[in-house]
Parts: sequence; C-alpha cells; structure tokens
Amino acid sequence: MANQGASRAARPPAKKVSDAEVPAKKAAAAKAPAKKAPAKRAPAAKAPARSVKAPAAAKGVKAPAAPRTHTALVRQARRINRELADVYPYAHPELDFENPFQLLVATVLSAQTTDLRVNQTTPALFAKYPTPEDLAAANPEEVEEVIRPTGFFRAKTRSIMGLSAALRDDFGGEVPGRLEDLVKLPGVGRKTAFVVLGNAFGVPGITVDTHFGRLVRRWKWTEETDPDKVEAAVGALFPKSDWTMLSHRVIFHGRRICHSRKPACGACPIAPLCPSYGEGETDPEKAEKLLKYEKGGLPGQRLKPPPDYPGKPAPPLGAAG
Ligand code: SF4
Repeated sequence: MANQGASRAARPPAKKVSDAEVPAKKAAAAKAPAKKAPAKRAPAAKAPARSVKAPAAAKGVKAPAAPRTHTALVRQARRINRELADVYPYAHPELDFENPFQLLVATVLSAQTTDLRVNQTTPALFAKYPTPEDLAAANPEEVEEVIRPTGFFRAKTRSIMGLSAALRDDFGGEVPGRLEDLVKLPGVGRKTAFVVLGNAFGVPGITVDTHFGRLVRRWKWTEETDPDKVEAAVGALFPKSDWTMLSHRVIFHGRRICHSRKPACGACPIAPLCPSYGEGETDPEKAEKLLKYEKGGLPGQRLKPPPDYPGKPAPPLGAAG
C-alpha cells in the first residue's frame, strides 16, 4: 500500500492543537451521561450538541450504570461502535502487509510485541524471503537474526518457517481462506486466523487482543477473560458485517485513549456511555496529555499506513521516535 497519501493527509501544523482536542471536544459535545439507556437510534455522529463545556467526567458526573438487559446492552454496544466509527473513520489493521502471506507472518510475529516493532522488522524479512517457498527453504539462523527485534525469535522462526512449509506443501503456496485450514498451520490460532480472514479475505471476524478484551470488559459487554468466550459474547451483540471494523475501532481506542493503566477518561468521547468512566484520569487537561492520538501529531504503528490515515507514518527500525 502506498504511503504517499498518508504523508499528504498529515495535518498541517496550524491544526495540530485543535485536532489533538478532538476526542475531548467530542466528549464535551456528547450527551450528558446516560442515567437511563441511550435513546433509540441516536446516531453517534449526529449526537445533539449540548452546552457542556467539558467532558462529563470533568463535571464530576457519575458513570452511567451498566446495561441490565440484553436489549439495553446491545443498544449501548452498538452506540459505542457508532461513536468509535465517528472518532476513527480511518481505523484499519495496524500491521503492514501487501498480501495474505505477509499478513499471516506479521500476525504470528506480533505475539508479545507491538505492531510497530513488527512493521519495522518485516520489510527486511519479506525482501529476503518474499514467498512461502523462500521462507520454508531458508536457513533458520538467518531468519532468527532478521526477526530478532520482535522477541521470542527462535519460536517465531519455527512457526513462520513451519507455516511456510505447510503452505508450500499443502496449499500450493497460497494462504487458505478458511478458518479450519488456517488454525492447522504452525503457530496460527483463532486470533491470528481471524485477523487474516478479516483483513485479507473480507471474512467477518472479531480480533480479541489485549486491548479488545480490556475495553469490552470495561464497557460490561462481557466479564469473560478467555478470548474465545469474549469473541462469542461480543459477536452476539453485533451483526457479522460489523465484526471486523468493530475490532479495529476498539483496538484503536485502546491504544489511543482507553489505555490499560491510565485511561484518559476526561478526554474520552465514550465517557457518557461508559460504565467504567472514572477508572482513569477525569481531569480534561490531564487526560488530554495521556492521549496517544495521531491527530495530535504522533506517528502511527504502520510504516505504510492507508492513504486516508490522518497521522504520520511510523519510523523505520533504528530511526528516532
Ligand atoms: S474507561 Fe475507557 S472508555 Fe471508559 S471513559 Fe475511561 S477511557 Fe473512556
């Protein structure tokens, strides 16, 4: 994917400050915290602007109660999804890839490390081994050296060489587009398979990573911690056609605003809908400093982001930043 568009789309400096405030402004413009279930069919993007000057959090308003019935839960969940779609219209998978094979390998490498580190590592890997046949026939020690920055490089080398051999021997060198085939490949579990199916084959799938699990529990969509159970519980709240983009949006929100240890509640557009509002910083100014938001000028995870990405591309391995 070309990245010229991303550079072009980066915000001009003059807008930087106001762009950085977008989540806070959206939170401020959103409705007062719902003490009751959100009103029917109130598209998040068209939420009526109230004259709330600061996020609900800053006013010391309590978090809305968790939805009590399945219907209320579905309504709240879908409303949050609409709100996220409005905040992150450019949400996308944050691994760089140009074909299903690259996405499969990158996803395996992403275990226990950041997408950024994977994106900084895979250009050299795919330049040296562009096909499953190339990687399957590689010298393992040389592969280990290339992927060392991603950590657990010996086990990951075994996985990516093993799956490459399986692709070569069993699938004609192509990545299969079926869950049952993907999960038989070495190092490929359901999460990896859904990432590949959703983003390389257009098959709806929910990606339960650490961000996704944390956020859906904060929103009380489920109390499950097992990824397969989380996936089933969340899948029941949305039509299949929403699953893939929902996953990207939730993960985007987890990386940028609803962090693990310091969620930026005071700058969060979901605050009026979130039963866990107040778990993090509620002061708007302090919360805004916690944002890791591309429109605030920070680079994203991808060296080659999609053309509509409004932030900066990530730096290559070894570069500052
Ligand atoms: S817990 Fe997360 S989603 Fe909820 S208000 Fe805080 S930052 Fe937003």
